[in-house]
Amino acid sequence: MDTATLITGLLVACAVGIGAVLLILRRQRSDEAVASGESPFAASSEGMKVCPRCARQNLWTDATCIYCGAKLPG
Ligand SMILES: [Zn+2]
Repeated sequence: MDTATLITGLLVACAVGIGAVLLILRRQRSDEAVASGESPFAASSEGMKVCPRCARQNLWTDATCIYCGAKLPG
C-alpha cells in the first residue's frame, strides 16, 4: 500500500465522518424545532378544577385537592 492510497483512504474516512456529523446536527436541529413548537405535556387548564384553598389545579375527576386535601366544588 503506497502513500497515495493511504492519503486517499484517510480523506474518504474524513468525508464520511464529517457527513455523519452534519446529518446528526441537522436531525438534532429539526428535533428542537418540533420540541419548541409544542410541549409534550398538556398545558391547558381546561377540564381542571381549581382548588379554592391553594388555587392549584386538580383533575376534574378528583373530589378533593391532591395538594392540600380541601374539598373541591362540584
Ligand atoms: Zn388545594
